[in-house]
Amino acid sequence: MQLSKEQQQKLLDHLKTNTSLSGIASDGCPACGEQDFHVQDRLCYMPGLSPEGEVSLEKGFPQAVVLCSSCSYSLTFNVAAIDEIDFG
Ligand SMILES: [Zn+2]
Repeated sequence: MQLSKEQQQKLLDHLKTNTSLSGIASDGCPACGEQDFHVQDRLCYMPGLSPEGEVSLEKGFPQAVVLCSSCSYSLTFNVAAIDEIDFG
């Protein structure tokens, strides 16, 4: 699923306001120290596991990927749990 520029910016603003994660909140990327992060323009999907431990798409959830613009250090966030932004 493609994210609009507005959705990407809203997510980045939301994370800057609601997390204290290194890098996003201005401490710098934990891998390279740069402070410029951006949101990947499309969501990805993390599969879950069935009770038997098998890979299950039904147990998974959509993820937004936030990357350091310098070294591509990546963080993922479950967008199904972020009610403040409409991801469609
Ligand atoms: Zn970095």
